Amino acid sequence: MSEKINIGWIGLGNMGTPMVKNLVKAGFEVTVYNRSSDKTEALSKEIKIAVAYSPAELVATSDVIITMLADDAAVKAVYQAENGIFSVTADKKLTVADMSTVSPETTIYLAGLCAEKGISYLDAPVAGSVKPAEEAQLVIMVGGDESVYQYVKPVFDALGKASVYLGENGKANVAKLSVNLMLGIATQALAEAVVFARKNGLSADLLLPIINASAVGGGMTKMKTENIINDNFKPAFALDLLKKDMRLATENGMDTPAGKSVYQTLQAASDKGYGEEDMIAVLKYLSDTN
Ligand code: NAP
Repeated sequence: MSEKINIGWIGLGNMGTPMVKNLVKAGFEVTVYNRSSDKTEALSKEIKIAVAYSPAELVATSDVIITMLADDAAVKAVYQAENGIFSVTADKKLTVADMSTVSPETTIYLAGLCAEKGISYLDAPVAGSVKPAEEAQLVIMVGGDESVYQYVKPVFDALGKASVYLGENGKANVAKLSVNLMLGIATQALAEAVVFARKNGLSADLLLPIINASAVGGGMTKMKTENIINDNFKPAFALDLLKKDMRLATENGMDTPAGKSVYQTLQAASDKGYGEEDMIAVLKYLSDTN
């Protein structure tokens, strides 16, 4: 590690928790905060880690604060709520990096407010789900000042297999939404193929190895194979989070046929009660209706 960087981490969800463990493994001093204290308690039973009781507390102890939160509202809340990051003044250099999937507008808005307070801001969303997070194999897209990216890069190196600098604030959010537009389409495509095969008497356990060995198979289809065969819809990436990403893409001009169809499907699947299950529960919805 070139320079000692103390990290404040906000958000111990499905992604945040394994990411924190990798930072600790890499030798960083990490202090964690999560809105619900059960997750901080569970983590501190598992590994030795410092706990903060508000985002504001992290300002004094951190060089870099990282957020890994559900959505735009959650990210804004940890800055602007009572006891939020903006409720106290940093008396030293402070950098924040938001690794959540949010809109470019939220990044530009928060980066502007941070700049007024002398805080550097990076949008740094990730490609890869829980397993790549556990294995430090994420791909991290970065927007903001390039020198700030270089400063935080050792932290990203401990979390992923690559980080890519894309230009000014918001550009990484655009890259992430592009990736997830494709992820949404691929997920629905996989579900439709399984529905079609089953309708014609071919089971998923026979179809999926063929898909995985063929040119249309890939990381996502392999990752979801066990889930489909075993009817396991425990969320690694919740369907409602993918729906949120399709909404963000729509709000940023996505108006293409497959993307629009996928957004409608996700909305309908969520309305049916599948929102908190894994994104591949889109298969359950399509099986119900076809
Ligand atoms: P998750 O398991 O649902 O965790 C969400 C986190 O956000 C929790 O720590 C939650 O706190 C916190 N949160 C939600 N609303 C909040 C609020 N209003 N104020 C403060 N904290 C709030 O989500 P995840 O799967 O880790 O995903 C995190 C982000 O990464 C999302 O933007 C997602 O789209 C993105 N992402 C996910 C994956 C994936 O495969 N899961 C992959 C790439 C990117 P509580 O514990 O209190 O609820």
